[in-house]
Amino acid sequence: MVFHLITIFPESLKSYFDSSILKRAQKKKLIKINIINIRDFTKDKHKITDDRPYGGGAGMVMKIKPILNVIKTIRTSRTNRTKFIILSPAGKQFDQKMARDWAKKYKNIILISGHYEGIDERVKKILKAQEISVGPYVLTGGELPAGIIIDSVSRHIPGVLGKKESLEENRGIGIPVYTRPEVFEYRGKKYRVPKILLSGHHKKIEEWRKKHRKI
Ligand code: SAM
Repeated sequence: MVFHLITIFPESLKSYFDSSILKRAQKKKLIKINIINIRDFTKDKHKITDDRPYGGGAGMVMKIKPILNVIKTIRTSRTNRTKFIILSPAGKQFDQKMARDWAKKYKNIILISGHYEGIDERVKKILKAQEISVGPYVLTGGELPAGIIIDSVSRHIPGVLGKKESLEENRGIGIPVYTRPEVFEYRGKKYRVPKILLSGHHKKIEEWRKKHRKI
């Protein structure tokens, strides 16, 4: 799977992508994260990527041309295995099912990250992109939302999770977890690990986990 993150702040997520499971997945060539700076695809001296909104009002709008210049350079045929996403707080809300389905269905996911007042509406039409939101709140930019999508889709790509981390869907999400010590004392109160987890009784532990999963 190749993720193409199109942004005017290419540095913003680098350290996250260069850590932990995503770092290992890239090393193993299970995923590729191609971060593209829109400014590199402007033709003017000042590398302008935005302009004032038609109709007036505060804030700037991201221009069409630099974004389309980037798209031209992405070497992927427009097959049904390529998905175009525009990050938007008004988009369809991203969820676990989408992460699982996209990991199976697509080879390229192109994520266009907005800033300021957003992206000229015509980009969505031209690219037949889907607007996706990561939650019902407004963030400063689309980089974090893009990172969320890259992270959660990657978890569904075979081999990305090692033996130590397993896919939640097979077990449930939000199962309470504990590690040493067995008893933790804090301000005079003792916090204990549930006895069943110390029993070594695998079947009963599985039943307990099933019962206590939150999703
Ligand atoms: N005025 C814009 C609107 O009403 O849609 C909000 C723009 S927001 C400040 C700047 C950018 O952040 C958006 O273009 C989008 O790319 C990104 N963004 C903000 N919140 C988001 C969310 N919940 N999900 C996905 N992207 C989001």
